[in-house]
Amino acid sequence: MKTAVIGFPRIGADRELKFVTEGYFKGELTEEALLEEGARQRAYGWKQQADAGVDFISSNDFSHYDGLLDTAVLFHVIPKRYLDLEVSDLARYFAMARGYQGAAGNVKAQAMKKWFNTNYHYLVPEIEDDTEIFLAGDKPIREYREAKALGVVTKPTIVGPFTFLKLAKFVGKKTPADVVQALGEAYGKLVEALEAEGAEWIQLEEPYLVHDVDAADWKLFQAAYAPIFAAKKNVKLLLQTYFGDVRDVYKDLVNLDFDGIGLDFVEGHKSLFLVEKYGFPQDKVLFAGVVNGKNIWKNNYAKTKELVDAIAAAGVLRIALNTSCSLLHVPYTLESEEKLSDAYKKHFAYAKEKLYELKDLAQIVGNTTGSKALLEENASCFTERINSRDEAVQQRVKNIQPEDYTRHPSFDERAKIQKEALQLPLFPTTTIGSFPQTADVRKARLQFRRGELSREDYVAFNKEKIASCIALQEELGLDVLVHGEFERNDMVEYFGEHLEGYLFTQKAWVQSYGTRCVKPPVIWGDVSRKAPITVDWAVYAQSCSDKPVKGMLTGPVTILNWSFPREDISLKESTLQIALAIRDEVLDLEKNGISIIQIDEAALREKLPLRKSDWYEYYLNWAIPAFRLVASGVAAKTQIHTHMCYSEFTDIIPAIDAMDADVITFEASRSDLQILDSLKENEFRTAVGPGVYDIHSPRVPSVEEITQALEQMLLRVEQKKLWVNPDCGLKTRGETETKASLANLVTAAKQLRKQIQGEDVQQAG
Ligand code: GLN
Ligand code: ZN
Repeated sequence: MKTAVIGFPRIGADRELKFVTEGYFKGELTEEALLEEGARQRAYGWKQQADAGVDFISSNDFSHYDGLLDTAVLFHVIPKRYLDLEVSDLARYFAMARGYQGAAGNVKAQAMKKWFNTNYHYLVPEIEDDTEIFLAGDKPIREYREAKALGVVTKPTIVGPFTFLKLAKFVGKKTPADVVQALGEAYGKLVEALEAEGAEWIQLEEPYLVHDVDAADWKLFQAAYAPIFAAKKNVKLLLQTYFGDVRDVYKDLVNLDFDGIGLDFVEGHKSLFLVEKYGFPQDKVLFAGVVNGKNIWKNNYAKTKELVDAIAAAGVLRIALNTSCSLLHVPYTLESEEKLSDAYKKHFAYAKEKLYELKDLAQIVGNTTGSKALLEENASCFTERINSRDEAVQQRVKNIQPEDYTRHPSFDERAKIQKEALQLPLFPTTTIGSFPQTADVRKARLQFRRGELSREDYVAFNKEKIASCIALQEELGLDVLVHGEFERNDMVEYFGEHLEGYLFTQKAWVQSYGTRCVKPPVIWGDVSRKAPITVDWAVYAQSCSDKPVKGMLTGPVTILNWSFPREDISLKESTLQIALAIRDEVLDLEKNGISIIQIDEAALREKLPLRKSDWYEYYLNWAIPAFRLVASGVAAKTQIHTHMCYSEFTDIIPAIDAMDADVITFEASRSDLQILDSLKENEFRTAVGPGVYDIHSPRVPSVEEITQALEQMLLRVEQKKLWVNPDCGLKTRGETETKASLANLVTAAKQLRKQIQGEDVQQAG
């Protein structure tokens, strides 16, 4: 039995590519150094897979920033504002990713969105009416050649035209139907070029097929592929799906002119059912995604064998064992985890270990000698699984009463009481929480971790940081302050470290966007709070100012969504456990004089099922109540804020309102203001702070730009409900640009305030 991998991580086992790229951004490293590091990482990934004996290894899964951006550039889907920049191709590429401000011009970055139900973010291709689509590059061809020169025969992979079109933003009058022919033909040219280069297989990734697919979409899919089928001669095409099942199109899909179909049997709850019910063509290869590409728990060989046996029993003759999605979403290798004991490690498999799981599974399914021993060893791991369940925590979840999910009094009552208590001006200004994590901050934390800095000194250092952060915010004239989050490496890991039931790793980095990585902690057991977590920092920060300083917490859904969850406790149960722990923290903050508490649900949308029909039943029905459980215990005068990254919640606005927060801040600057229209249409009750500038880019927004954004917002949001803030935390930004940006933000808010109050006075007079 053959084995396959959809894609491999690319940021470097020690995040080498991240550091080199950032050095290049700072102007410290040359373009050449950057390209060399890229080549080194590609070679590394191919070698790992070849050494593990993987039969189908991808190329072009590498990217210097983002795969969808690569695809856009490859097909010349480049908005005019970037084409007009007179800079090198690489600089233009990064301008699309991060914006550009320099001698050649001043342009914003493209929008960024979450990649399906993961924490990876892609750059949204923008199609203008005069975008000319054609095969404009050769990256997949070069990388195929490069692997071949290293002795590794690969299947070039690329996001397919259907998914590309569904994720693209059409900024003019055109729609996908208007460009599908041109795009399909451009893909056809690519297929021809790869075939001429000698490629035997090409992988086209179409995860969009796991959504609800209607007749119009299916028509679009077929239109996109017609030119591709026409272009290919002998090269084999693998249509790869992941993150769910393809129940709406399965029957038709398997009969198209593909040579292999990749299905996800981990997240695709109906995949096996589909194969059993409708069969699978005997001349095609079924790439069966059985090794989880999204979680780090060891594969249960016995269960997987059962699954593969069932697929075979359904009459599938040719099966290749595959990962369920790209391994981009898991860390590199357990070998880097020097501090984690084997008692833990033996339960896990990172990307490299998953390669060997595929190899083991191929032996086991093929019943080769040695497979019995492999099965036994694997089973012993599961039976030996440390029984870490905590009775008391389980009981507390069982004791939750329906009224625990409701906050009293009602939203409107609270708004009045809070207005009185907080005395904030019109258009209150604030930030999302973190301030730049400069080198000294990271160094102090690292030294503290290593025991090189005493707790006392570490606390003193952070207090100094907090004091100067508060002083800066007062100087800037912000209304609601934050302590700056200097003690936090990451908004989820920080809480994980202070909660019982969590396990943390040293090197489990996963790419989040561009050069940014996150290190999700592992939910190892039942989760509870040992002691107050943030109270001391918050109380100290509040003591530095007469203005309100927000207490800053991460919400339960985000903590869950950005952790590696257990696979044997339901997500709902784990989330409620976390919610109870954070609820205790909220109440402690309130008790200690904190009047505004922000509970970030940055990742609320992340595990929203991709199929609309599954949204409430499988997710929102417990995710929203979990948030309410956290906040429902506070007094009316305590203001609860929440923050969500990305404004992609147009379709779940009622659910967001039902969180019953008092204020919500979210990203708006990188996307259009469409969300605001929907808020209006839905009579959104919660006060809103749609981010007025993009913190993912080092660019400093001008006062005029911010004023314009605010004016747009005021057309859709009631005056008294509008907050003014950046669109996310500032920790990845530099100090200088942060200061300049916030100064402009405050100026814009003050001007507008004056203008409107002036108008009011005039009217009254
Ligand atoms: N409070 C967090 C911060 O400011 C929120 C981060 C986020 O939304 N990703 O960093
Ligand atoms: Zn955010």
